[in-house]
Amino acid sequence: MPDGRRRPGRKPGSGPRHDAKDNRRPRDSRPEGSRRDDGPAVEPPPPPTARPIDEPGLPTATVLVKAKRARPFFGRHPWVLDTAIERVEGTPADGDVVDLATHEGRFIARGIWNASSRLRVRLYAFDAGVPLDAPFWRSRIETAVALRRALGLDDRAGAARLINSEGDDLSGLIVDRYGDHLAVQLTSLAMAGRLDAICDALEEAVKPAGILLRGADRGLSKLEGLHLPDRVIRGTAPDGPVFIREGNLSWGVDLTEGQKTGFYLDQRENRRAAALLARDRRVLDLFCYSGGFAVTCAVTGAARSVLAVDGSPKATALARANADFNGAANVTVETADAFARIDSLSAAGEKFGMVILDPPKFARSRGAIDEALRAYHRINRVAVDLLEPGGILVTCSCSGSVSRDDFLEMLSTVAQRSGRQIAMLECRGAAPDHPVSASCLEGEYLKCIIARVA
Ligand code: SAH
Repeated sequence: MPDGRRRPGRKPGSGPRHDAKDNRRPRDSRPEGSRRDDGPAVEPPPPPTARPIDEPGLPTATVLVKAKRARPFFGRHPWVLDTAIERVEGTPADGDVVDLATHEGRFIARGIWNASSRLRVRLYAFDAGVPLDAPFWRSRIETAVALRRALGLDDRAGAARLINSEGDDLSGLIVDRYGDHLAVQLTSLAMAGRLDAICDALEEAVKPAGILLRGADRGLSKLEGLHLPDRVIRGTAPDGPVFIREGNLSWGVDLTEGQKTGFYLDQRENRRAAALLARDRRVLDLFCYSGGFAVTCAVTGAARSVLAVDGSPKATALARANADFNGAANVTVETADAFARIDSLSAAGEKFGMVILDPPKFARSRGAIDEALRAYHRINRVAVDLLEPGGILVTCSCSGSVSRDDFLEMLSTVAQRSGRQIAMLECRGAAPDHPVSASCLEGEYLKCIIARVA
């Protein structure tokens, strides 16, 4: 691909764009190697102890960054990698508040130290003198909750991501609300140590029936020196699936065993956008999980029929239940490997009016980008073959390390090789309750292209 198409500094295999790199759905843009779950077994350290609620939140040390490495942090980038640090004045314990300063000692920001992570300091406040105490976390949480209210996502019967890590200036904290229950996912030791204060603030702001801890991202948690088993931290767990409403649909969400924190909230608006084009079409939803796209296309979109495929029997059981619950009798759910199934459909000469591809993260590290792009190419190439003329392709990528440009370039190659015109109608991202900080573009991961294939 021509270099000019890429964002500067984001070439596959190149080093971090800033002095830091990490996190979110974190599907993927973390420090290189950070997602390796297959390294030598190390004994996880004991869980971080909760900080007392009346913790003053003042620094115990000053971390000085190397000359010429301070700029991203003045620009509010929240991750300070070990390699950016010149020296530390003081001896902070993991989880302590520290100040970040230039190599000459000028204040830049205030954050939290973790010597067990390559991401040594996570920054939370950029004004001098602000204590990182309970009122500080409460104020951040109130701001995040108010944003969801402004987005119209405060219907108690619905679901929303209330806190999206860096996008809400709370690096390492994800909170999803499903009806009256909250699912918390921690990806930083900094936030884990403040869990009591965070839960107090969440209870005050949202009054949930229960708060559950979900360790969906164990790879990263290990890298932060965290070992956090799933558990109920406040109130009670739901005694079965939680039912949430989205428009005219209801979804059963498994909060204790489901993927992610239970449901793919990030695809909410993309499901609706796809459904708008599904009328009277035969739809294929590959990688359907609990049937989000399939059922929305069948019911809201009035598709003629939908074939939904996922490799996980638990996922297809959820998809079947969600289709039945919403009265979508024309949805067929299959448990199968998507790669094999798409090939068999193609070999059988089957045709569809819409194909939806929402695969799991293919690129687990920046080194794996080329391999991931080959996998995207392969399924998109077959999907185009399955589409009748004028069919709609809904193709997604949740690999943070595969850039939007790379993904579009892949689609361009599919158009060339297939000889079909692919006209992109919409280039979409994650739903707005998943804000991305402009200071931390590593938080952007989801691409969803809707295209007409001639
Ligand atoms: N579209 C879904 C989310 C999909 S997440 C929604 O909107 O809710 C990706 C899904 O791919 C997961 O459910 C996972 O079980 C499934 N998956 C992963 N590898 C697969 C494979 N090789 N074949 C089929 N499904 C697979």
